[in-house]
Amino acid sequence: MHRDRLSPIGGEFADAAREAAFQAERLPETVRHARLLFALSAVLNTLFFVSDARFYGDPHFFVAIPARAVVVAISLACFALVPRARTFHRAEAVMLLWEWINAVAVAALVSSRSDIAFMVVLMLPAIYYLAVPTSFRATLASGVGCSALMLGGYLAPGPLPPTVTGLALGLVMANCALILVVRNANRLRRLEWAATQAERQANDELAESRAMMETMFMAVPIPMIVTTRGDGRLVKANDATYAFFGGDPAAFGVHTADQVYADPAQRAALLAALDRDGRVAGFETQARLGDGSLRDVLLAATALDVAGEPCLMCGVVDITNRKALESHLEWLATTDALTGLANRNRFFAVAEVEMKRAERHGRPVAVLMADMDHFKRINDTHGHEVGDAVLKAFARLSRGVLRPQDLVARFGGEEFAVLLPETDRAGALAVAERLRAEAECLRGDGVPPDLCVTVSIGVSEIEAGERTPEPALSRADRALYAAKRAGRNRVAGFPVATEMCAE
Ligand code: GH3
Ligand code: MG
Ligand code: MG
Repeated sequence: MHRDRLSPIGGEFADAAREAAFQAERLPETVRHARLLFALSAVLNTLFFVSDARFYGDPHFFVAIPARAVVVAISLACFALVPRARTFHRAEAVMLLWEWINAVAVAALVSSRSDIAFMVVLMLPAIYYLAVPTSFRATLASGVGCSALMLGGYLAPGPLPPTVTGLALGLVMANCALILVVRNANRLRRLEWAATQAERQANDELAESRAMMETMFMAVPIPMIVTTRGDGRLVKANDATYAFFGGDPAAFGVHTADQVYADPAQRAALLAALDRDGRVAGFETQARLGDGSLRDVLLAATALDVAGEPCLMCGVVDITNRKALESHLEWLATTDALTGLANRNRFFAVAEVEMKRAERHGRPVAVLMADMDHFKRINDTHGHEVGDAVLKAFARLSRGVLRPQDLVARFGGEEFAVLLPETDRAGALAVAERLRAEAECLRGDGVPPDLCVTVSIGVSEIEAGERTPEPALSRADRALYAAKRAGRNRVAGFPVATEMCAE
């Protein structure tokens, strides 16, 4: 990432804001570290008073003791000061204060040119580079400055030792090596921090998107259910599910999906479809709700893993009302509203299916056309309501006379058609005669007891090769016309008997 680019020299973030963020986040750690450093410096330098006592009687004694006291004092002061730092820059200022005062005091101390002094000349810059967590620029300045002060302090009393050049070059070499170490440490620390930051950000984003998905899942107004694939255990359900189900399924003793399917075999069918197509949309089935009622539902399902367990998520759309509306529309489209009989459309649809079946099995099919006699007179004499009552009574009567597989339809007015599967002309004539005879005794709600109703019926068998019922209906109609002409209240078969034609 661009903002994570590191400076090739110091190994710090090239982007100042990024570096400031890094330092700001590490401030408590930096302060803790600096305090420990100051405390150790105060304690160890106090112990060094014992070592300095060896100069007693030597003029250096009056340099060493005050210088040591300065080191201890500045260490204690910085120990007290650094926790107040609220920014990295403040903390760094305290560390620099300690470094420079300490360096000047130690420069005075190393003027003794003792063995220990030689060691300190090399050690103090190393401490500045490695143990003081300042910025690279400050580390470099104080490391180099400290080295110069140490060398100056060591050489100040003169005369210059023959090893002076070697000592100076040794210090330069040590500085170079330490700069490399600091640079590497800076780089590693920042790379690690950037990686941690990136991981934290990814985790935050993941948690955020999980929370958003969870909110969407719970808020979506369609029931959404997650169940295990194996035993159908409920893993998760949204609010809409509880509203649809009528409460918490567990409260109704429902713990698995099988208990919700009206037909548990349907779950196996859904899983099979899921295996076949990867996802399922528009799987129609019936669900049993908490109160035991059944609802027609449309399921959409997707496979998913939850904590390593194969599961499926189902969206549920309640189509009960839609199906009821559809079946009502179908009823309206296929049923005669007054009598509840089939209408012409349904008669033709059923007839075509029956004719195909009859053709396959070589069985006969016959049709009847029935028309009430002088119906206009009934209306005129008794009123339209009585006419309606007669039509309804005739519908009921015809259903009683006919077999369940026969179909009677109202074609309009007082005209009815009957489909008689597996019935030949003779059989159809017998059925028609029974219907005609029963109609003479027609009784029903709203039908006056003294009313005499008669009906004329034409009969025809469907002929081989005919694919629609129209030709047979037209022949039955001609026979019906003949029956009317012959005096009504009678049955006529097609072809019409000659004596009927003569009348
Ligand atoms: P025919 O013996 O020759 O068949 O004489 P008809 O009077 O029965 O025949 P026509 O076709 O002259 O009259 C049929 C009557 O049926 C006319 C119409 O008012 C009546 N009608 C048609 N539909 C309905 C209905 O839904 N209810 C009632 N009450 N009457 C109807
Ligand atoms: Mg009539
Ligand atoms: Mg008529």
